[in-house]
Amino acid sequence: MPEIISSNNDDRKLPERIFVERLKLYYQSLKQSVLAVLVNSTILLGLLWNDIERSHLLGWYSFALIVTIYRIIVWWQFNRIEKSRYEERQWYLHMLIGSILSGLIWGGAGYFLFSDNIFYQALLAFIIAGMSAGGIINLSSFLESSLSFLVLVILPFLIRLLQEGSTEALQMGFMVFLYLLLISVSARRVHQTVLNGLTMKFMYQRAESKIKEQALYDELTQLPNRRLLKDRMLHALARAQRSNIKGALLFLDLDNFKRINDTLGHIFGDGLLQQVATRLNQHIRTGDTAARLGGDEFVVLLTDLSGSSAEIAQNVQLIADKIRQALEVPFKVQNHELHVTSSIGVSLFPDDSHSVDDLLKHADTAMYQAKNLGKNAVHFFLKDMQDSLNKRLELEKALHKAIKNEEFRLYFQPLVELNGTIFGGEALIRWFKDDEQMVPPDEFIPIAEETGLIYLIGDWVLNQTCHCMSEISKLNLPNDFKYLSMNVSPQEFNQKDFAIRIEQALKKNALSGRYLEIEVTENLLLDDVSGTVQKMEKLREMGISFSIDDFGTGYSSLAYLKKLPVDSLKIDRSFVQDVLSDNNDATIVKTILSMSHMLGLKVIAEGVENKDTWRFLEQHGCQFFQGYLIGKPMPFEEFMIKLKNGSVFEP
Ligand code: C2E
Ligand code: CA
Ligand code: CA
Repeated sequence: MPEIISSNNDDRKLPERIFVERLKLYYQSLKQSVLAVLVNSTILLGLLWNDIERSHLLGWYSFALIVTIYRIIVWWQFNRIEKSRYEERQWYLHMLIGSILSGLIWGGAGYFLFSDNIFYQALLAFIIAGMSAGGIINLSSFLESSLSFLVLVILPFLIRLLQEGSTEALQMGFMVFLYLLLISVSARRVHQTVLNGLTMKFMYQRAESKIKEQALYDELTQLPNRRLLKDRMLHALARAQRSNIKGALLFLDLDNFKRINDTLGHIFGDGLLQQVATRLNQHIRTGDTAARLGGDEFVVLLTDLSGSSAEIAQNVQLIADKIRQALEVPFKVQNHELHVTSSIGVSLFPDDSHSVDDLLKHADTAMYQAKNLGKNAVHFFLKDMQDSLNKRLELEKALHKAIKNEEFRLYFQPLVELNGTIFGGEALIRWFKDDEQMVPPDEFIPIAEETGLIYLIGDWVLNQTCHCMSEISKLNLPNDFKYLSMNVSPQEFNQKDFAIRIEQALKKNALSGRYLEIEVTENLLLDDVSGTVQKMEKLREMGISFSIDDFGTGYSSLAYLKKLPVDSLKIDRSFVQDVLSDNNDATIVKTILSMSHMLGLKVIAEGVENKDTWRFLEQHGCQFFQGYLIGKPMPFEEFMIKLKNGSVFEP
């Protein structure tokens, strides 16, 4: 084996590949070598016909012919076998035997066809020199064969010259000896050059294929990348258009990857992505493609689906669900058990589109829909979906403008006590898009939260609320009016400088914190309970109070509530509204009321729309109310008039 074996793992296969290549080189040049033997031995036979004893001559020639036939047979068989068998040891042995035998032919010529005639000696010397030079080239891929060939060719002739003993013969013998040394050194050098050449060739090939691989495969997971995926999609689409066969694209996004990556670090994130890739590959058929687009986005391309559109859709749903469930099984990364879920969007081709880019876009849209529907789900692309997405993008653009153009207004909805007096008001934002059409907050707040615009909007709400509250405090109301409450999104609350911004807004309006209540949802508490509690405590030191909004719809448990520094709960209006018709809702409301009394929390019932509801709530201990029955959210001026008039609601 050659000495260029590297210890690097990557190079493990290199020596074997080079070995095969060396064998191939040898067998390729065998033709010329056999032809040279045949021609030269026949010429020699003719030249020496009258000068050498016939039996010697014919015996030698027959040997040369037999060896030639043997080498031709081996050569012929080598050419017939499959490439994968080149490595087999027997081809190396045949090569070595062939070289030794042909060495013996010319060695035999030098010894047995030796003549006293100085002319014939010179002739032999020429032929031997020529054959050995040819041998170096033909046998160069194996040093052991070229050296043994050289020695076998030259040594017998040298011995004969020494035996001859004449001065000329001895002189010639000396020169032949020098020639042997020289040509052996050359043989070694040629051999080394061949080896270096082969190694370079393979290194180059490998580097080239590596470059190709990097251009088409994702480095982390080794899955096809976007480019290769698109290429395969093109082929699949072309096939689908020619025949009745169809395909599907599954756009897959991990639901909680960012959190894992942020909290545990990139090493975990990367490990997880690699395992997801492996799992995806385990759950698709050969012929289908799992690709990574980047981040935690994967795409599975299913091809060659047949049947009616409905059957195909059903089939794809099954496959997508299978993949989704497979990813739910916990992953083990560096001894940590990681739980992930995935949202999958599906587009079908050629039904949904004939364009690769559109299909990807559609599947992506469907994936977002799956996320919006609560994640860990599969959703198919529908044309309406694209429309609503477009509408959303439009809204996002308009929202940017709205901040600049001051298109927001703050409305206030009264909060009343059991006796009907207004003790507070909830600030609710209104967006008059282009100064006319009112866009409800439920439609734009989620977009603002996703795009980060909520920080600007939240700032505006905060300052506006403080300003309005300071206006109210100038009215010299009796102590009945306690505070204005404002809604704060988790994103806003979680900002580092949230407390500072509140402090600044209060200061700017010369307002005490006790005039402000902050409404947060239960989901705020999901991430970092102790950090949240700390921040709340800090704000409470400024006099600010807290209420939990939409209570009952989120995740919080009683155990949580005990830990939290909150003052009140607001029962979500979905329960309040059906309290008279739905037994479950009635039970929930009753439970919340009795439970919060035990915990010493104030309860405000939202969405009170009629007197019967009010009465039911009152009977079960509710003391604070909000809803259309009392008053809809109204502009600040209207709210002020109500307060100035000391208006009391008659329950
Ligand atoms: P929310 O905090 O639960 O606000 C109460 C919602 O219930 C308001 O909807 C209010 O108009 C409505 N409502 C009040 N009484 C009744 C009733 O008797 N019947 C019915 N059917 N509805 C009633 P609105 O103003 O459309 O606000 C929707 C949501 O948008 C709010 O729900 C809140 O989560 C969010 N939001 C509103 N303003 C802001 C804000 O300034 N900042 C943030 N982050 N979110 C806000
Ligand atoms: Ca609220
Ligand atoms: Ca609410």
